[in-house]
Amino acid sequence: MKNKSKKTYPIQLSEDELRAKLDPESYHVLREKGTERPFTGTYYHNKETGIYECKACGNEIFHSSKMYDSGCGWPSFTHPIRPDAIDVEMDYSHFMIREEILCAKCGSHLGHRFPDGPKDRGGIRYCINSVSMDFKKDS
Ligand code: FE
Repeated sequence: MKNKSKKTYPIQLSEDELRAKLDPESYHVLREKGTERPFTGTYYHNKETGIYECKACGNEIFHSSKMYDSGCGWPSFTHPIRPDAIDVEMDYSHFMIREEILCAKCGSHLGHRFPDGPKDRGGIRYCINSVSMDFKKDS
């Protein structure tokens, strides 16, 4: 499904730029709201300390300190790196009502959030596709 959002995001990337920059799976997830297969993502078991960025535009979106093992098959976080790093929209696709998580700078699709996160840390699970992110290890 193509991005139908009517919002205008601060970073506008052309289709040519995106096709050149992203591998086909990343393009599909970020720009066509795809989902990587569970338990396959590069960062699912990443234990390193650092920052996760939007693969399309480089916006910093999550920090490893908020990552936890949810067992769901995708990298999971309790909070974004900053509240304004991400954007949230209602998603009614696939016969479900979900909250979609998008990059606040370029509007690319990152994943969804669910109210089943750890109760002692806010109770929210940000469920994010590995292929939508780049990881920058702390030096
Ligand atoms: Fe982005």
